[in-house]
Amino acid sequence: MTDISAVVDVLRDTFRSGRTRPLAWRKAQLTALRALFTENREAIADALHADLHKPRPESYGAEVDLPVLEIDHTLAHLDTWLAPQPLTAESLAGLPDGTTAGTQYEPLGTVLVIAPWNYPVQLSLVPVAGALAAGNTVLLKPSELAPATSALMARLVPRYLDPGAVAVVEGGVPETTELLTHRFDHIFYTGNGTVGRIVMRAAAEHLTPVTLELGGKSPVFVDRDTDVSMVADRLADAKFRNAGQTCVAPDYVLTDPATSAALQVALAASVERLFGADPQSSDAYGRLVNQRHFDRVAALLDSGEVAVGGRTDRDDLYIAPTVLAAVKGDTPVMREEIFGPVLPIVEVAGLDEAIAFINDRDKPLALYGFTENETTRRRLAAETSSGGLGLGLPMAHLRVPDLPFGGVGESGTGAYHGPHSIAAFSHRRARLDVPLS
Ligand code: NAD
Repeated sequence: MTDISAVVDVLRDTFRSGRTRPLAWRKAQLTALRALFTENREAIADALHADLHKPRPESYGAEVDLPVLEIDHTLAHLDTWLAPQPLTAESLAGLPDGTTAGTQYEPLGTVLVIAPWNYPVQLSLVPVAGALAAGNTVLLKPSELAPATSALMARLVPRYLDPGAVAVVEGGVPETTELLTHRFDHIFYTGNGTVGRIVMRAAAEHLTPVTLELGGKSPVFVDRDTDVSMVADRLADAKFRNAGQTCVAPDYVLTDPATSAALQVALAASVERLFGADPQSSDAYGRLVNQRHFDRVAALLDSGEVAVGGRTDRDDLYIAPTVLAAVKGDTPVMREEIFGPVLPIVEVAGLDEAIAFINDRDKPLALYGFTENETTRRRLAAETSSGGLGLGLPMAHLRVPDLPFGGVGESGTGAYHGPHSIAAFSHRRARLDVPLS
């Protein structure tokens, strides 16, 4: 096993040396990280295919192009984001003439990033990019459940990034458990709430701040009188990408009975447009990550009437893109985050009942709505809470780098992307300058 103490000591020494603070160093690291992505596009897609049977276009989009977009946006705006923020004279009333004050971001030190398996490159290296942009050193622990991708990152990261400032420690529960005994200046964890609690407890020992990017059941409200064919296309694309193993995937639909009937027909057509008549033989469709997750998701298929799909093949870790109709709120599929290609439709009378249903449950990572009605959009925003709100196009909010990406309550704490990554990985220091004469 890696000597974790030695790795952490190197990262601490590098931070203390001051090497990571200048803007030029930060930009050089981001530029090198950009090259890691663009020069290893195929190797990244190969590893993701080995781990998750991830279709290549999905890998290029979510695991290469999106991180590159994030890095380019950061390189373009980093100077502005890091500029000191002066206070107005009004807030300095009563202090001696010539007094100035403001805030300035400073790096925290050494950051631990613990990543999951579902988007194992993006969810490892975008937080690393944010931590470096903010001037920190970083220890990355990729997920052991995506072993080819973990090994690839362990090989590539030291070739591209400053090896004194960024380290990759591979491993599973024993390694993570040991890592968590060390003192870090920030811990950034993406994964489930059970481990999130373990991380937060360990962090409390050292009073280390945490960002917890967790999951949950992200609902979709579909209003009556929407174009169900368009809704179904957008829903199916978001839900069945990566075989439903996306933290912000639409988890379930809330709609009235008439819309539900029309939507089921439209979803069948959307699934066929996306993956053909036999999704199992389509290059565009993924697989469940392992047998444990296969068994867990397959067991949820009994929670409603199968309206689309329903076929499974355990040896191939295949579960067809599936829509379950007439699902009741207390069935197993509605009790846990699905994290697989199963879309339950729960019938409600209308918006009031949908809002009550959502508010009876944990605050989700995302909430989606399809409606032409401005009042309905306004009510969904005003009368519910979620990490993000996506009206009209599920999952697109996470591609906008200036929007904070994160959860609330059970779906997480803290946020990142773009300027929000600088805020997550920095201390905002107050400064007051009073003249001596
Ligand atoms: P996972 O099993 O890969 O776990 C994540 C990390 O936790 C891994 O690095 C793993 O080694 C570590 N870990 C696992 N058990 C541990 C333990 N007992 N002690 C210490 N560390 C441990 O990922 P997962 O949790 O299966 O991922 C799926 C969940 O993550 C879903 O709930 C999903 O919604 C959520 N998720 C959230 C986001 C987000 O950005 N908010 C993104 C992706 C996934």
